[in-house]
Amino acid sequence: MTQTGLSIAVIGGGIGGLAAALSLRQAGFGVQLYEQAAALGAIGAGIQISPNGARILHRLGIAAALAPHGVRPVAVHQRRWDDGRTLQRAPLGDAVEAAFGAPYYHFHRADLIAALAGALPADSLRTGHRLVDAVDKGDRVEARFDNGTRITADILIGADGIHSRVREVLFGAEKPRFTGCVAYRGLVPAERLAQLDLEVTANNWMGPAGHLVHYFVSGGRLVNFVAVREADSWTRESWTDRAETGEALRLFEGWHPQVRAIIGAVDETFKWALFDRDPLPRWSAGRIALLGDACHPMLPFMAQGAVQSIEDGAALAACLAQSGGDAPAALTRYEALRKPRATRLQEMSRHNKIRFHLPDGSRQQERDALLQSSGDRSLAAIGWLYAHDAGALGEQAA
Ligand code: FAD
Repeated sequence: MTQTGLSIAVIGGGIGGLAAALSLRQAGFGVQLYEQAAALGAIGAGIQISPNGARILHRLGIAAALAPHGVRPVAVHQRRWDDGRTLQRAPLGDAVEAAFGAPYYHFHRADLIAALAGALPADSLRTGHRLVDAVDKGDRVEARFDNGTRITADILIGADGIHSRVREVLFGAEKPRFTGCVAYRGLVPAERLAQLDLEVTANNWMGPAGHLVHYFVSGGRLVNFVAVREADSWTRESWTDRAETGEALRLFEGWHPQVRAIIGAVDETFKWALFDRDPLPRWSAGRIALLGDACHPMLPFMAQGAVQSIEDGAALAACLAQSGGDAPAALTRYEALRKPRATRLQEMSRHNKIRFHLPDGSRQQERDALLQSSGDRSLAAIGWLYAHDAGALGEQAA
């Protein structure tokens, strides 16, 4: 028997769904997670988890499982695309942990997914279940999967990503928006880049119509990069595609030798079209609610998409725990608390497309002067984002 007797079905076994399932279990609810894929997994790429997400992961009891894999960068370093001049360097590492009580991490996604999934009892996880339909019957939700399984739960949570079927069931079909950005992603064995003597930092090189982010993952054994260029259109049906390293290198012609050396050292690179959505008017209806990319997909230019999905799960669990069993009221409260913050980050991420990609000229010079004087990543400037505790409902200003 759980705290309130509520049973919760979580749809989607990405970072958001897994973290939510753990937060909900920790709050005492009966949770079943349904994932469409035959096995949980993640694309071969890195992910940054800032202290506002790491605080929740630690509270979920997975700090020890993460420890061998997580890299703790000492600083964030923003640089100019051609000559490598420093535009902003702000502390992470011990300073960020002392200020906010949780570390800034870099992970390989597969390591994070494995740590989250490893903390869930095996019988609470159903793979090979693609949700087809969900109906709110007023006192319960009925859901149907492509393998014929039918379930009933008190609450259904759609953590099923940017193509969310749950979102479609609630609010109708609507395609996400191509943002005009394509990302080339790759992982390079660190020893292949030894001659660069790379610092353990979160690096962002900004240039005209593009930027490149790189950092260590997998306990320092791999260097992850995301090389973003603007593109007018994306014509392929698939959102991801294998790409030639030469193609990525050509797009970064004239960039600093370190940028080109990192791209040039990769064995294979994948090309991703980046999509987002305008903020949704609603995230919930009755006994069904959304979280993560299902309701607030964003460009990755604040590195907050997954972190916000982790926050969503913590806030959702806290709202339900305080609801006295009134599920619709708890979901409405969850949405009201979470939407302003996630919307702000969706908007900031969109704005960073312009800010990071300014052509050389007066606006770029203004940006650089601002970054060098006050900056936006100092401990004081970033406190609103990193100090936030999504599970503590008393302090929910965005
Ligand atoms: P997803 O990861 O999309 O998971 C959804 C899950 O639902 C999947 O497992 C899917 O198979 C399953 N599913 C879908 N439909 C169904 C169905 N009908 N039935 C059952 N299961 C279903 N975020 C950060 O916080 N930090 C970063 O550094 C960062 N870097 C990024 C870099 C790039 C290039 C990109 C593209 C994104 C980045 N993000 C980052 C964003 C982050 O990846 C996403 O916000 C996050 O993964 C979303 O998690 P999610 O669980 O909501 O959705």
